[in-house]
Amino acid sequence: MNNKNKRIEVVSFDVEGTIVTTDFSYAIWFEMIPQRFALRHGLEFDQAMLKVRQAYESVGDQRLEWYDVQYWFTRFDLGRADIAMEELQPRVKYFPETAEVLKTLGKGYKLNVASGSPRHFLKHLLRDIEHNFSSVYSSISDFQQVKTADFYADMCCKLGVEPRQVVHVGDNLHFDYTEPASIGINAFHLDREGKTDNPAALRDLTQIIDLLGSL
Ligand SMILES: [Mg+2]
Repeated sequence: MNNKNKRIEVVSFDVEGTIVTTDFSYAIWFEMIPQRFALRHGLEFDQAMLKVRQAYESVGDQRLEWYDVQYWFTRFDLGRADIAMEELQPRVKYFPETAEVLKTLGKGYKLNVASGSPRHFLKHLLRDIEHNFSSVYSSISDFQQVKTADFYADMCCKLGVEPRQVVHVGDNLHFDYTEPASIGINAFHLDREGKTDNPAALRDLTQIIDLLGSL
């Protein structure tokens, strides 16, 4: 790790699909909520899933309620979401290289989280790795928006750094690459499964270590 490279101060990470798999979120939206809905309303799982999906779609991802698990628990009369989410903690899974990459980069840079997930998700998703990060931002919970250029600009202000002093990596081409790159952040798109034909996309997080040496 090049400790003398002072140009980059902060290495910033998206969370779901980047350092943590989507297993936990999937289990909440498509297993736990429809299972409990089925029990509560005396339906088969498939019927419950259909009703739950229709309700999700009726709200849509442009409204803040869509991201709020307690909103859905209240709407479906399912009780307390926080207790139910705690039960799913074992479903949080990190990618194989996550721990080692955070440990290595933490020796030379401040590590930051820039996530589109709400804080009541991050509480679970980051539980075992939060000690690696000096700052955590949720665009939805802290700025009531998705990860726009404005979100990244506000985040840099709060971090007290210029965008050019930040490296950000994430798996969403638009929210983790196009938006941060548009304000001058050194953004990298993580494409674990090679779904895009962007030759510059990273295949796993270890590549960030080499890239930082060359910036
Ligand atoms: Mg992501």
